[in-house]
Amino acid sequence: MPRPDYYEVLGIPRTATQEEIKRAFRQLAREHHPDVNRDPEAAERFKLINEAYQVLGDAERRAQYDRRGANGGAFGPFGGTPFDDIFDMFFGQQRARERDPGPERGSDLRATLKITLEEAARGAEKRMTITREETCPACFGTGAEKGSAPEPCSACQGTGQVRFNRRTAFGQFAQITTCPQCHGAGRLVRRPCRDCRGNGRALVQREITVEVPAGVDDGTRLRLQGEGEAGARGGGRGDLYVDLSILPHPVFTREGRDLHCQIEISMAQAALGAEIDVPTLDGPATLTVPPGAQPGAALVLRGKGMPGMHGGHGDLVVHASVVIPADLTKEQVKLLAQFAKLRGEQIKPARKSLLEKMRAYLV
Ligand SMILES: [Zn+2]
Ligand SMILES: [Zn+2]
Repeated sequence: MPRPDYYEVLGIPRTATQEEIKRAFRQLAREHHPDVNRDPEAAERFKLINEAYQVLGDAERRAQYDRRGANGGAFGPFGGTPFDDIFDMFFGQQRARERDPGPERGSDLRATLKITLEEAARGAEKRMTITREETCPACFGTGAEKGSAPEPCSACQGTGQVRFNRRTAFGQFAQITTCPQCHGAGRLVRRPCRDCRGNGRALVQREITVEVPAGVDDGTRLRLQGEGEAGARGGGRGDLYVDLSILPHPVFTREGRDLHCQIEISMAQAALGAEIDVPTLDGPATLTVPPGAQPGAALVLRGKGMPGMHGGHGDLVVHASVVIPADLTKEQVKLLAQFAKLRGEQIKPARKSLLEKMRAYLV
């Protein structure tokens, strides 16, 4: 079931400040608290209000929520646990669970990879260097200097969380928060590892291989599972998202799956038709210019465009420009004049001597 929009639940605009969010939540919590509001739906509604506040009331989680809305969920759903805590707090159910801080998944990384149009068409195996956090090889991720080991935190007995009783408008409740001494890790490192300064992870440069499938487009995002940053306390690695950027090609431009290029044909080829060699991504191919081709004619080579990522091929569209010769020999002038005469065209071929005179005059 899709979750309702949390901003709508709290009745606030997306631009609301954290203070406004807090105010809206307090107001709604008072109205919908099941002790006050006997409406059978109030409990459900109250739970939803809390859930919305758990996310929007926390600036970091709110930013994550906003991003997730924008890119369609590439970062996965939130864990459900924080909601349970606040619900427990409001209902005074002292079922405080002694939770282990548990494994923490590593962060996702993002990188851009430049590829050529040929690589986009055929697919490629590319090497790229990324910098990421990996488990520190000196301490195997424990954060403790060689010869020592992390000790359980005395403040939370290794659970990473502490409980205290809190008075609210609705009565006294147990609240659970992250242990301030170990920051939720549940253990303390007395002698931190010198290589990673105790955080158990170290920045490492890695060369990785990216399999670029055939048919990718500029901006295609590839997901390399488990190539992100190392997790903590045995958590899995994050993912690496690679955004592809296709370099400009000297011959072809791309429109979707179609490729476009320009060629020059002569006056005679345009008029009489011709078979000419044109470049394609697979090497030269023969293009038939039909008789009477006009300047700017778009001639199509079917299936010579880009492959689609899910099969099929685009076309190659060849734009022909007709070149008017500017270096005619005496004989060619004579023949062309004769041709014009036959067509009944009015011309006055300039004689070479006259042209030369004009040039001298113009310089
Ligand atoms: Zn270390
Ligand atoms: Zn602790």
